[in-house]
Parts: sequence; C-alpha cells; structure tokens
Amino acid sequence: MPNKILCPKCHGQRTISCIACHGAGKTSIVGITLAKCEECGGSGRHLCDICGGVGEVEPADTGVMKT
Ligand SMILES: [Zn+2]
Ligand SMILES: [Zn+2]
Repeated sequence: MPNKILCPKCHGQRTISCIACHGAGKTSIVGITLAKCEECGGSGRHLCDICGGVGEVEPADTGVMKT
C-alpha cells in the first residue's frame, strides 16, 4: 500500500471553496437579488472532489503524471 499524501487541492481540509459562488454561499447575477448558491447550498464550501472529503489521496490520484 502506498503512503497517502495530503490532498493537493484541499490541503487536508477536506473541503474547497465553492467554484460557483467562490465561497460566498450566494450567487449574484446582474439584476437579480442574491440567492443561496445551489451548488453548495449556501455553505460556500464543497466537499473536495479530488480526495472525496478524506483529505488524503494516494500519490497516483493527484493527477500529476510522472513520465
Ligand atoms: Zn456555492
Ligand atoms: Zn482534497
């Protein structure tokens, strides 16, 4: 079993800023009142899609290709 490494995306925090609202938890569209972000449910955070919320990944799962 390879040693797990800290997730390169969330750095072990298991969550990342919502890409839809940039962590604000709200979406703003010109002319429309701020609404709760549907992507993150208003929390502004997303479960990390790289480690799946574990905070660690196997080295092969980082997406960094070794040639
Ligand atoms: Zn969001
Ligand atoms: Zn992660």
